[in-house]
Amino acid sequence: MIQEEILRLKKEKDAVILAHYYVAPEVQEMADYIGDSFFLSKKAVELKEKIIVFCGVEFMGESAKMLNPDKKVLMPDLTADCPMAHMVTKETVDEARAKYDDLAVVCYVNSTAEIKSWSDVCVTSANAVKIVKKLPQKNILFIPDKNLAHFVAANAPEKNFIYNDGYCPRHEFMDAKEIAELKAEHPDAEVLVHPECNADIIKQADYVGSTSGIINYAAESKNKKFIIGTVKGVIYELLDRRPDAEFYFPKTEPICVNMAKITLEKLRDVLLSEDKEVMLPPEDINEKAKLTLERMLEYAK
Ligand code: SF4
Repeated sequence: MIQEEILRLKKEKDAVILAHYYVAPEVQEMADYIGDSFFLSKKAVELKEKIIVFCGVEFMGESAKMLNPDKKVLMPDLTADCPMAHMVTKETVDEARAKYDDLAVVCYVNSTAEIKSWSDVCVTSANAVKIVKKLPQKNILFIPDKNLAHFVAANAPEKNFIYNDGYCPRHEFMDAKEIAELKAEHPDAEVLVHPECNADIIKQADYVGSTSGIINYAAESKNKKFIIGTVKGVIYELLDRRPDAEFYFPKTEPICVNMAKITLEKLRDVLLSEDKEVMLPPEDINEKAKLTLERMLEYAK
């Protein structure tokens, strides 16, 4: 059985498997640690094993490598990339830096190393509000995601936000009508959504938070029905924490096509061949980008 093969190879090679909540449930099942970007980046610096296999998209493997340069970081599919991670230009950052003296460039961790290297600090959806509030600067250029930027701005009204036009296609194009229909069908359900969703979805939510925030909310709620506005892979952990509850997703299944590229077969194959290795970015980019990740871990303490 492929699962047994993966376990055997993992042991033989002294490897640890990290998986994001958005990958397929059968892949999450094989992981030593499952989590959102923030949990996994914190975890990546504590690991003792020689090899890290990162089941997620490119920027996640890249961050793990930057934080663990001496370890071998493998990804089951190196073409699994996040489109949002590229959605900002250097000109946008340079223009804001020229316009405002008192500016912090805050970069969502869902971004390439190069974009991180233009920034002052990284954040995840779980710690963005906390970190932005701690920054001494008044003006915040938040890149690349406009929806997360608006969510953070609403929770940090003392700051002046400058927005960029990036978005996660999966959350941006979620249909608000489909959420409204689910609400009509299940009026007693609570609506829990990710801040990458568009404003029409956010308006309908009872709770807006990171993937781990959504999971924790459902785990602690007395309610037994939830409408979920994020990628469907999260169901694995939701059912694990609330086997008694019912979860409803929009009719157009919210699946991230890039996370979906991570399969059990590719996980087994990369453990066997060790050939899909994540490399460090060029030194100047790596140094600056790594600083933004380390500042995030420091600010988030
Ligand atoms: S769900 Fe969206 S933000 Fe997350 S990896 Fe997929 S495209 Fe990127």
